[in-house]
Amino acid sequence: VRARVMQVDESPEVTYEDIGGIEEQINEVRETVEMPLKNPGAFDEVGIQPPSGVLLYGPPGTGKTMLAKAVANQTDATFIKMAGSELVHKFIGEGAKLVRDLFQVARDHEPAVIFIDEIDAIAAKRTESKTSGDAEVQRTMMQLLSEMDGFEDRGEIRIIAATNRFDMLDRAILRPGRFDRLIEVPKPDTDGREIIFQIHTRDMNVADDVDFAELARMADEASGADVKAICTEAGMFAIRDDRTDIRMEDFEEAWRKIQKESEDEDISKT
Ligand code: ATP
Repeated sequence: VRARVMQVDESPEVTYEDIGGIEEQINEVRETVEMPLKNPGAFDEVGIQPPSGVLLYGPPGTGKTMLAKAVANQTDATFIKMAGSELVHKFIGEGAKLVRDLFQVARDHEPAVIFIDEIDAIAAKRTESKTSGDAEVQRTMMQLLSEMDGFEDRGEIRIIAATNRFDMLDRAILRPGRFDRLIEVPKPDTDGREIIFQIHTRDMNVADDVDFAELARMADEASGADVKAICTEAGMFAIRDDRTDIRMEDFEEAWRKIQKESEDEDISKT
């Protein structure tokens, strides 16, 4: 069971250079997660506790998972990921035990970064979700809080959680000693998108006519994940056209396709 819900990566490859448009957020994560891992003594000497848990919130595909992986990479820590939804929906009755296992695995792999994606699935306000009243979900969340509260020496294990639904969260998890540092990870602005286009085309054979600034303006509202999808799709158009270089028109067509797909998705949801 454990192997299927927990993703353990002893040396994640993502670095800060792979993440575009969110420098401020990178700096905050470095200060609150990386520093305590690299230099726990600094906090002791000053006589303060580093934040227990950091909560990243913002729309899907903006780099939250990447950030957590990059910190683990930078500190030579093991990256351990679990999704809140899997904790409670996949193995009914196992949630609390999985949380215990999660922290045990972290202790066995110190230093470690625990990343809990979709924390809202186990920590939604009672009023907001049908499932949050569920005794099983409550037990899972209590177990998580008690593991966090029980951390005396947190230096070697850091916890990062992420959510797309900040509004849904039970405020109890945001109390001091729990997820007491909030970092908003927004969609990139135009300059940020331009950088993300450059990152994802690093290994691509891009033609001279490609204008990243123009692409960034065109792909208004695109998240980092959307930009990545545009780049991959542009490459596909070039292949279909029997070319090895990727031209501006490929990127434009890719953006139209991805926009259309997301519109179709919106329609199918309603
Ligand atoms: P979710 O909330 O859906 O889990 P997330 O915020 O955790 O999303 P990631 O998993 O970090 O998003 O991003 C998905 C992919 O999109 C990344 O693997 C990367 O290729 C690309 N991406 C997202 N944001 C950025 C960014 N800021 N810079 C570069 N690439 C990005």
